[in-house]
Amino acid sequence: MGTYIEEKEIIYRSKLPNIYIPNHLPLHTYCFENLSQFSSHPCIINGTTEEIYDYSDIDLISRKVAGGLHKLGITKGNVIMLLLQNTPEFAFAFFAASRLGAISTTANPFFTPAEIHKQALASGARLIITESCYVTKLQSLVQEHNFKVIVMDEPVPEGCLSFSSLMCTDENQIPEITIDSDDVVTLPFSSGTTGLPKGAMLTHKALVTSVAMQVEGENPNLYFHSEDVILCVLPLFHVYSMNFVLLCGIRSGATILIMKKFDVVKLMELVQKYKVTIAPFVPPILIEIAKSPVVDNYDLSSIRMVISGAAPMGKELQDKLRSKIPNAKFGQGYGMTEVGPISMCLAFAKEPFEVKPGSCGTVVRNAELKIVDPETRLSLPRNQRGEICIRSDHIMKGYLNDQEATENTIDKEGWLHTGDIGYVDDDDEIFIVDRLKELIKYKGFQVAPAELESMLITLPDIISAAVVPMKDELAGEVPVAFVVRSEGSEISEDQIKQYISKQVVFYKRIHRVFFVESIPKGPSGKIIRKELRTKLAAGIPNG
Ligand code: AMP
Repeated sequence: MGTYIEEKEIIYRSKLPNIYIPNHLPLHTYCFENLSQFSSHPCIINGTTEEIYDYSDIDLISRKVAGGLHKLGITKGNVIMLLLQNTPEFAFAFFAASRLGAISTTANPFFTPAEIHKQALASGARLIITESCYVTKLQSLVQEHNFKVIVMDEPVPEGCLSFSSLMCTDENQIPEITIDSDDVVTLPFSSGTTGLPKGAMLTHKALVTSVAMQVEGENPNLYFHSEDVILCVLPLFHVYSMNFVLLCGIRSGATILIMKKFDVVKLMELVQKYKVTIAPFVPPILIEIAKSPVVDNYDLSSIRMVISGAAPMGKELQDKLRSKIPNAKFGQGYGMTEVGPISMCLAFAKEPFEVKPGSCGTVVRNAELKIVDPETRLSLPRNQRGEICIRSDHIMKGYLNDQEATENTIDKEGWLHTGDIGYVDDDDEIFIVDRLKELIKYKGFQVAPAELESMLITLPDIISAAVVPMKDELAGEVPVAFVVRSEGSEISEDQIKQYISKQVVFYKRIHRVFFVESIPKGPSGKIIRKELRTKLAAGIPNG
């Protein structure tokens, strides 16, 4: 990565030259461009049923599903919600939507009905693809908002349609559609630097760019090969897995082994059986692998690469894992929903290389990165801490229906402000040291404090509340609340915790409640979270 001084700005770029990226192509065209080369090569293995789909199967099924969706009225610009655990149907539906110029909004099936409802309506979706066990959560959307529901398994609940019927559609039913590279293809939700979860509009251009910058080139960073078997245990509804595993995997002609959910024994069996070579994880899974004695009974020597992302991975953890996964190089990636990858540990050598422990690697190619002083907004030189900003074709177009949040995140010069505090060292490596933004990350999952705070203050017992992260050995961070009770209220910690648990998915649950006299706020009423985090770190939350 070189340093460039441009109009008094200090900008970091990859040391490797930019590559040509055909980002005028629609995402599905780009991903399946090499189909003739790989057509009979295994593309997806369903880790549950062990069914194998080759590349021509995936291409054909996604065309059929596109035809089926079109018959149901889905057309360019429409949004469909994928409410799925990891399953091949996710890939079929995702590419089917892309072929129609439609948009997939991906959501966690463990969300509560209220959380699903909010995202479904905010995204403008009209159809949901899910499993029958989640259908009861969709009642209000079906009854009050006329949503169509498609289930991928049998028996099909009353009122729903079956995914297999879509798969029987004639693949030539797809209408002629012109897809512009600036059209949105997926709409994952993220709270970004502040506020409630919002739809991050990722375009065909953004995703093609992002995949290309990770897997293309005259070898230097071609670290997924068609012989690779990539483990897909991280949820596909999150961009890390959708982008890095599914899209990069398919573009590379690799085989993707899909696991519905994490289970250490099943994971070991599958890794051994299918000789997994690439293992993308998050630190909590790595901690479990490091601690589990059963791991020693399996041969994990096929794994050549362990990649950790979504949250920091420490050196001790890496050291503990080395003997268990003997042939693997360990590295980190750093990214976010609104951007995709920002930096990668292993992208820039003939052979993957390891970076310093704690480092997230170097900035991806075809992108610019700067470190900005949050007060002065000036860009900073090496080894100085500031907000990480990134500019490239792979950043989101903006937040859906939220101009203000978009302008607060992407400035007029096109820089996306990540809300992460970090620095670039003398070897071009990026270190994340803190978070300027409110976001809490529980095992890599997003928890938006504003969402929990708005629930807390609807209780008449609570006048004011602030939710901040507390460090946790396994989860990385857990949400805790500072609460000011109304006069005379005796609401207890347990009552507050239960009130929240009923409304949210498991990882947004509040782990501790601290009753305080007041919440520190700035002149505009903004919560001064840093003060609360400092109190927590000092062990004086009630002080
Ligand atoms: P998400 O949008 O859910 O992917 O969350 C993105 C945020 O996760 C980033 O802005 C960082 O705060 C955090 N994050 C992602 N990767 C890493 C990493 N390797 N180390 C530390 N934090 C990370």
